[in-house]
Amino acid sequence: MRQSQMFIPTLRETPQDAESLSHRLMLKAGMIKQMASGIYTYLPITRLVLHNIEKIVREEMNKIGGVEIHMPVLHPKELWEESGRWDAYGNELMRMNDRHGREFALGPTHEEMIVALLRDELRSYKKLPLTLFQIQTKFRDELRPRYGLLRGREFIMKDAYSFHTDDASLTKTYNDMYQAYENIFSRMGLNYRAVEADSGAIGGSHTHEFMALADIGEDTIAYTEESDYAANIEKAECQPVEKSADAEKELEKVETPGVTTCQSLADHLEIPLHETTKTMVVKINGEFLMILVRGDQELNDVKVKSFFNAEEEIEFATEEEIVQHFNATPGSLGPVNTEIPVYLDYQVDAMVNYPTGANETGHHYINVNHTRDFEVRGTGDFRFINEGETAPDGSGPVKFMKGIEVGQVFKLGTKYSESMGLNVLDENGRSVPVMMGCYGVGVSRTLSAIIESHHDERGIIWPKSVTPFDVHIITANTKDETILNAAEELYESLQEKYRVLYDDRNERAGVKFADSDLIGLPYRIVVGRGAKDGVVEVKRRTDEKSTDVDIADVLKFID
Ligand code: ATP
Ligand code: MG
Ligand code: MG
Ligand code: MG
Repeated sequence: MRQSQMFIPTLRETPQDAESLSHRLMLKAGMIKQMASGIYTYLPITRLVLHNIEKIVREEMNKIGGVEIHMPVLHPKELWEESGRWDAYGNELMRMNDRHGREFALGPTHEEMIVALLRDELRSYKKLPLTLFQIQTKFRDELRPRYGLLRGREFIMKDAYSFHTDDASLTKTYNDMYQAYENIFSRMGLNYRAVEADSGAIGGSHTHEFMALADIGEDTIAYTEESDYAANIEKAECQPVEKSADAEKELEKVETPGVTTCQSLADHLEIPLHETTKTMVVKINGEFLMILVRGDQELNDVKVKSFFNAEEEIEFATEEEIVQHFNATPGSLGPVNTEIPVYLDYQVDAMVNYPTGANETGHHYINVNHTRDFEVRGTGDFRFINEGETAPDGSGPVKFMKGIEVGQVFKLGTKYSESMGLNVLDENGRSVPVMMGCYGVGVSRTLSAIIESHHDERGIIWPKSVTPFDVHIITANTKDETILNAAEELYESLQEKYRVLYDDRNERAGVKFADSDLIGLPYRIVVGRGAKDGVVEVKRRTDEKSTDVDIADVLKFID
């Protein structure tokens, strides 16, 4: 490809408003253009890299028997009502009307769609197991789109869904997917870790997230070096224990205000629940508070915080606002800080002895004191894991690190097949709900995650598996006939074996070199003064200095 014909609008200045490194580099390297918050045009370089990522994903999906389909972006409201998610999904669901006033969602995920497809097509267990996938644009009205493609409102996802008659078959596909994800992320050169994750309200019984390790990551991973133990901190801290007889008794003692679960807290505050609504107990400056978090799972994405027993609901848009409100130490909120972690729990029903006097005192925000005001017992028991503590598997001290969730595998069970009526006839002719798994890879997010870990101060350094081109040929001077002829010839010959970007632009050499470093192709060949002696300068993107190589030997240099 001739660069003069390409469209790579690189920037000289570093964009100030981009908060993450990959976002800055992508803007600088002319890869993306923001059209609205969290909504981007993918320029040619990005499109090429996405093709490569998608190719790897497709190959690994096909290897385990995944079959590609393509479902609609527009989802009729009725399907989402059947699953109960039209209401439950909350503000992240983008909604629209057609000219007849019929309502639709722009698909953030496709469980409803695929179940609607298969319940009309599947009759017998004999067609199962079945794994279908698509690579497609998803829409989520994220409260805080940020970091470029890392958290967009319109983004590309590979989503796969598997269908089974029994758990053994689901487990097999789940394990195959897990292996496929390991292959996918290894092939892309990502430093990642598969972690146990919290299945939350999505309905899964078993789930892992694949985390690309990076400081910008919004998730915190607890891991040890002594074993394979690795968990999302959300999961790591919520270690359910067996409900003891004692705990049962304690539960009976639960007093007013009867706010013991996410749902009851929401009812109390008269607010609708979101799919990922959670109750959390946070400790701020030594005080414990029970709060409701709606929307995203990250505390960084705090949407609405309703404080337990609050007489009015106060909204906090950011972590900082909460910290300010409580006059807390900055950074003391959320999984970011290991000293004052956030404890979350889906089954707070086992938290007992809520204070009853709080309302009478008229305080909007009561100081809920652990042990004085409530205890944590039974199924809802949770552990406070801090860095340095022994891991749950007893192997060694827990360490924390940051990760970007690039993929997730889920055992869904029969949640959607039951609510939406996806049944097959089993061997005995009985109608049974189909068991499902769902499996996502953030294709566009992965691209950013790759850049987060493959760059230097001059620009991107593409791993060979996803690079947009293999070789960058640059003419140092476009006025010199010898140089031009040598470059043209080299361009022609290298194209037989490699994908070549040929910078034939009439620009200063310095500009071309800077752009070349930004774009970050594995090899750079500069055709300059040496051309008259049949010599060019060859350099790997990772080399400090270039090497003079006879044009005839260039191929030997490139592996
Ligand atoms: P997050 O926790 O980051 O909000 P999620 O758990 O909501 O992600 P999933 O529903 O598991 O996301 O979707 C599958 C994959 O899609 C994620 O693992 C992630 O890689 C990607 N993804 C999710 N939301 C976004 C987004 N807003 N922008 C880009 N990629 C996303
Ligand atoms: Mg999300
Ligand atoms: Mg997540
Ligand atoms: Mg997820």
